[in-house]
Amino acid sequence: MTLTVSFYDVMFGLIAGLAVLSFVCLATMRGQRALAWLTMALFIGAIEMQIVKLGPSFWMAASVSMLIPAAHWCFTQSVRTTLLLGPSPAWLNRTVVLLTACSLVLLAVGANDLAQTIPFQIAALMALGDSIGSLYRARRHALDHALLGVQCLMAVMIVLRMPLLPVILGGQSPLTNFTQSEILGHILTLWAVIGPAAVALLIAKVIMAMVESYRNRAERDDLTGLLNRRAFEQMRIDSESALLVLCDIDHFKRINDRYGHPVGDRVIQKLAYMLHDAPGYAARVGGEEFALLLPNASIQEAREVADDIRRRFSETRVDDVQEDGMLSASFGIAPSPMGSALHLAFSQADIALYQAKRTGRNRVVLFSAAEHPDGSDMLVAA
Ligand code: GH3
Ligand code: MG
Ligand code: MG
Repeated sequence: MTLTVSFYDVMFGLIAGLAVLSFVCLATMRGQRALAWLTMALFIGAIEMQIVKLGPSFWMAASVSMLIPAAHWCFTQSVRTTLLLGPSPAWLNRTVVLLTACSLVLLAVGANDLAQTIPFQIAALMALGDSIGSLYRARRHALDHALLGVQCLMAVMIVLRMPLLPVILGGQSPLTNFTQSEILGHILTLWAVIGPAAVALLIAKVIMAMVESYRNRAERDDLTGLLNRRAFEQMRIDSESALLVLCDIDHFKRINDRYGHPVGDRVIQKLAYMLHDAPGYAARVGGEEFALLLPNASIQEAREVADDIRRRFSETRVDDVQEDGMLSASFGIAPSPMGSALHLAFSQADIALYQAKRTGRNRVVLFSAAEHPDGSDMLVAA
């Protein structure tokens, strides 16, 4: 018994299978818009195969003219979403729609098959070009390079397919002598490799982005985006020595009580931005307490960094907090030699910070273990 399966059945099975896979991933990882776009692209592709299978007709040509660019456009939105980019630019969307409309008009006026199929194929190519360009600019991982390569292959295939598409759809093309079955045989082989590869890479990229975002959430503080205390303490620094700066906003309770909690939050964010821009690694280690680790810094450098932040914060204004002297912070600095536990540096910097508070706040104090092991006499820097 011989079983004959048409090209369109094979392609339908392949694309529909990938669409189901993408949908299952979408249902499992809720909220992944990239997978919603990918499922839509594959769903459109599967419908296209069923329509083409019906054979040449006006409605088949009209549907294909819209479905091919639509599938590529959706695929591109999926890639852009994984790259955290917004939708394609408006000019590109307009051009894709205009070229598609152009193909429909050419179909309506009875233009030849080749002329009718060129505009919507250019529209599909432009949508794909947007995805290639976005990937090229934002590429970071090996996965991005692989997806970029596969997308370039897809673009080459679209260009090579341009003069052949009328024949594939059962019409005429003056630019080829190949028969429909000869062309389909080659395209099937190429698509069976490139199609699933592109989809698998895109799904892998979505999963990777999700893992990265969960890791970020576990390591970062929501309000400021700085490292949280746990991530800060687990940090491994490849340096001979480091200096730890602890910082605490002065009389912060007063700011909360007078201006409200949301203004207090913005004050915290303001200081966090300054610490973020400073050299080294910054973390929010408590409500209004921050830490800054400065690898390979000298005591003088650490003091300058802390004092610069102290000065700028005391001069800053946040919302209604306009009164002079309302915003200030105190700093304690302690060495954190390589190999010694960070918690020792934390307690020494905390002693220095306490000293800064006790001696009037809005100042930087350096812990001096050698001279004063009990931490009772500090060097006051500002
Ligand atoms: P000191 O100068 O001695 O540090 O005094 P302080 O008022 O800054 O210190 P205290 O520990 O008495 O108060 C800290 C306040 O910070 C109490 C708490 O309500 C507030 N706080 C903690 N986390 C947050 C936050 O995320 N947002 C806001 N707005 N307030 C917070
Ligand atoms: Mg505090
Ligand atoms: Mg405080």
